[in-house]
Amino acid sequence: MTGTPAPFTADDYRARMERAARAADEAGLAGVLVSPGPDLVWLTGYAPPAATERLTLLVLTPGQDPVLVVPTLEAPDAEKAVGAPALKLRDWTDGKDPYTTTAPLLDASGRFGVSDNAWAMHLLGLQRELPGTSYVSLSDGLPMLRAVKDAAELERLAAAGAAADDTYEEILKVAFAGRRESDVAGDLADLLRHFGHEQVDFTVVGSGPNGANPHHEAGSRVIGHGDTVVLDFGGLKHGYGSDTSRTVHVGEPSAEEQRVHDIVRAAQQAAFEAVRPGIACQDVDRVARAHITDAGYGDRFIHRTGHGIGVTTHEPPYMIEGEEQPLVPGMCFSVEPGIYLPGRFGVRIEDIVTVTEDGGRRLNDTPREMAVVN
Ligand code: ZN
Ligand code: ZN
Ligand code: ZN
Repeated sequence: MTGTPAPFTADDYRARMERAARAADEAGLAGVLVSPGPDLVWLTGYAPPAATERLTLLVLTPGQDPVLVVPTLEAPDAEKAVGAPALKLRDWTDGKDPYTTTAPLLDASGRFGVSDNAWAMHLLGLQRELPGTSYVSLSDGLPMLRAVKDAAELERLAAAGAAADDTYEEILKVAFAGRRESDVAGDLADLLRHFGHEQVDFTVVGSGPNGANPHHEAGSRVIGHGDTVVLDFGGLKHGYGSDTSRTVHVGEPSAEEQRVHDIVRAAQQAAFEAVRPGIACQDVDRVARAHITDAGYGDRFIHRTGHGIGVTTHEPPYMIEGEEQPLVPGMCFSVEPGIYLPGRFGVRIEDIVTVTEDGGRRLNDTPREMAVVN
């Protein structure tokens, strides 16, 4: 649909780091400590080797320049990161203690937000070096840090959504009956890559009773005529996520299958229509849940209504009872109610939705009726 989006610039990353430091200040934190993973990619564009056990840590302190603590042997690659011009590099060499290198950068009695996926080994090392510090996970301390997307991010999320939609349109043409779930899952992965995803995160194909397990991935079960099949797939395109579900049927559905599907579709539509700035995340969940409960299936809707999406396919904000965070224009999240009947079948319908000034806009827009496949 679109070409390659313009790359993020050093200024984009500088602005994100300033925003994170400001948010930390407003949250009463002395700073933010960011380890390799989605937070670091989002803040700096830097993704060190996946298996690195050596300490790499971005230190964001309000009012000071960002510092990246990095192993000496990784420094040349770190310097090539797009966000590097906004960073001071502080390298440490094998054999030295990385925590004594890091300690002078930190307020010795401060409370810091730490990436959720930081290695325990590193956090324990910092605590040993600076016993007066304390820590909170970033998803608790600054859950909304990455939640509001800017125009360039929305462009990428829309492109990922469009690619997932193209994938769905194509999967309707393949044979389901007589093939294993894993075969259809392979088709989904191939199609996502064909339409520009560099990473496939999940390809759920839940046929018949397997559809009643929301996170059933895909197994050796041979799909048969009469099966309801839950499809849920996504990954990253240009570094941003897709995630969509549709439920299809092999041949004509029974009256009950059609009725359950109609309930989920109406619940998903109602929750989408509820999206607008100012309502709480939990209100989106409540609207979907009320609809399914009124139809008699409240105890069969066994997960939250949605999750945020960005440089990962699951992140804050969560559309769940108890989440009072108001929706803000630019937030992107899934709306994905479902009904799961153990031993029988499941139905889920999922779109990514972004909050606009006056409502919501879907980033997935394939037909939501239950498609009949062969
Ligand atoms: Zn059936
Ligand atoms: Zn999904
Ligand atoms: Zn999802």
